[in-house]
Amino acid sequence: MKLELKQHFQIESARFLPHLPSSHPCSRMHGHSFKITLTLVGETDPKLGWVIDYNDIEKLVRPLLQQLDHHVLNEVQGLENPTSENLCLWLFDRGQKVLPMLKRITVAETPLTECSYPALEK
Ligand SMILES: [Zn+2]
Repeated sequence: MKLELKQHFQIESARFLPHLPSSHPCSRMHGHSFKITLTLVGETDPKLGWVIDYNDIEKLVRPLLQQLDHHVLNEVQGLENPTSENLCLWLFDRGQKVLPMLKRITVAETPLTECSYPALEK
């Protein structure tokens, strides 16, 4: 039986969005406490009764998050334009390589906004 797991992480990062006009506040350097949610889908292990140890998820994605946490995102390769959308894609591409059961990344740059990839509707 397949089940869905979610695990939440938080990173603190600085960024600016280089393609916006200087009148837009996001064109200036500023910081976010990004909340990142990983959604995984997998079969339960018949003996252990779980899909994967949450500690193992943390160990696998920690090296990726360490590239972002307390860094200027614009300086990270592939994140020269670090919108939440591009952050989702960056994390999904790299996350799936280390965690094939990763099915979705959600990035919340504020408590009121979220961006997810892949979209539910294609
Ligand atoms: Zn921002």
